[in-house]
Amino acid sequence: MKKILVLIFLLPLFNTISYSQKSTTETMVKKVTKTDAEWKATLTPQQYFILREKGTDRPSQEGYTAHFEKGTYHCAACNLQLFESNSKFESHCGWPSFDDAIDGTVDYVLDKSHGMIRTEIICASCGGHLGHLFNDGPKETTGERYCVNTTSIKFVKTEKE
Ligand SMILES: [Zn+2]
Repeated sequence: MKKILVLIFLLPLFNTISYSQKSTTETMVKKVTKTDAEWKATLTPQQYFILREKGTDRPSQEGYTAHFEKGTYHCAACNLQLFESNSKFESHCGWPSFDDAIDGTVDYVLDKSHGMIRTEIICASCGGHLGHLFNDGPKETTGERYCVNTTSIKFVKTEKE
């Protein structure tokens, strides 16, 4: 009888241990934390609206939507490299679309706003809102579509060798 009791008490403990181990093996991106006032001082009003207040750019072929130069897309708030140009594709949705992100640079958050269940994508470093992740991307690669606001990212061109 005693043995059973001990087991019952120990079981939740084991569960907790294995769970915490899982979360510590996640990405090691350096975290950037700023107050709302600090972000307001460094970002443009549009950047603040999109990145910090989870706004959405209007769909358009402008910005980076139809931009296909070779380079890297960085977070507009903290400069973390998020996407490579070779992951970018034309999705005809009106926003820049990528089929993959650079490993460990994007975090995924369940978003139940606007009566929908979506996966929000945020910068793993500063927590800035980037857009949403959908599963209607190109089947021949990942099948995923990282739908990103132009305002959330900035393009850095690859220097010619
Ligand atoms: Zn960032």
